[in-house]
Amino acid sequence: MASFFSRSSRALTYVTGAALLGAEATYYASRPRIQLDSAQNAPTPALSFPSSMPFPKQLTVLSTEQVNHDTKKITFSLPGGDSQVSGVPFGSAILTSHWPKNGWFPVFRPYTPISAPDDRGVLQLLVKQYPNGRASSYLHSLTPGSTLSVRGPIPAYTWQRSTTPRELVLIAGGAGITPIYSMARGILSDPKDQTRLQLFWGVNSTRDIVLKKELEELEQQYSSRLQVTYCVSGSEKADLSEPGKYKKGYISSEGLKEAITRAKAGSWGDAKGTKVFICGPPAMQEAIAGKKGWLGGEYGLVKKEIHAF
Ligand SMILES: Cc1cc2nc3c(=O)[nH]c(=O)nc-3n(C[C@H](O)[C@H](O)[C@H](O)COP(=O)(O)OP(=O)(O)OC[C@H]3O[C@@H](n4cnc5c(N)ncnc54)[C@H](O)[C@@H]3O)c2cc1C
Repeated sequence: MASFFSRSSRALTYVTGAALLGAEATYYASRPRIQLDSAQNAPTPALSFPSSMPFPKQLTVLSTEQVNHDTKKITFSLPGGDSQVSGVPFGSAILTSHWPKNGWFPVFRPYTPISAPDDRGVLQLLVKQYPNGRASSYLHSLTPGSTLSVRGPIPAYTWQRSTTPRELVLIAGGAGITPIYSMARGILSDPKDQTRLQLFWGVNSTRDIVLKKELEELEQQYSSRLQVTYCVSGSEKADLSEPGKYKKGYISSEGLKEAITRAKAGSWGDAKGTKVFICGPPAMQEAIAGKKGWLGGEYGLVKKEIHAF
């Protein structure tokens, strides 16, 4: 998938979004359906986002919560209530659309749900508001009872569980945490999957950290499989005292050395050979995973070993 942050790829996504849906519908129709809840032979809840969805669905806002200075968590109820799950595969995004007042065209934007694919009755988005951001400002203006037009899902990465221990490195920058968090939770919640994750998240300041409680809970629940490190680049004099939890500065080759050494000592990479998942601003992705990035230079990784959202 195109870079999460890249402007040109974003533009392409928006302009061609509606047209792509037709092609996507054909592609999705040929894919096997997600199996949920089959273990107990319980009836499989209808998916709100089945694999073919040519027409938008209207989701109703249940609640909104301002989680930090620029980010809101928005909880939507699914059309079929608790009898439904979203079914949006972890790591994948949905496409929102709205007509701006006095606008000639609708605004399409992708967002990665932070709710799990099998959460009943709800879908949650975590939306960072950009100054004059057309979609993010609109989403921030929604209140309980408002509706939002949503299509999808947009496929991201088809994960294959590993029943033998494997190591992965996940790297997020700023708002790029949503697909990385979604992947991490999806991988960890499969008890048969033995993949170990080392997650590095770069933020400007500690006030930009969202999903902290959720990440801490995952770390406690899967202590042998997840380790999260926050890299804080700004000049704040915050108390970054938890050793090993916070690093001062940008995510750097030096900062990741320990993690990569540990990953290399084990079986680094998933079943398809992907060793690093990354989602962040273009400058960060270029420095780390671009043509001249240090993952390739210092660690010899080739393009197919890095998945950029
Ligand atoms: C697959 C995918 C999943 C995504 N998931 C999420 C998610 O879960 N949560 C989330 O908050 N966002 C997510 N995004 C980003 C989201 O789709 C929008 O790009 C973002 O909300 C900005 O849209 P806007 O219409 O508000 O801003 P625009 O109207 O497009 O831009 C307004 C201003 O903000 C600046 N701007 C816009 N986007 C960015 C950016 N990413 N970084 C820096 N400056 C920017 C622009 O340069 C411009 O100055 C995702 C993107 C992709 C491709």
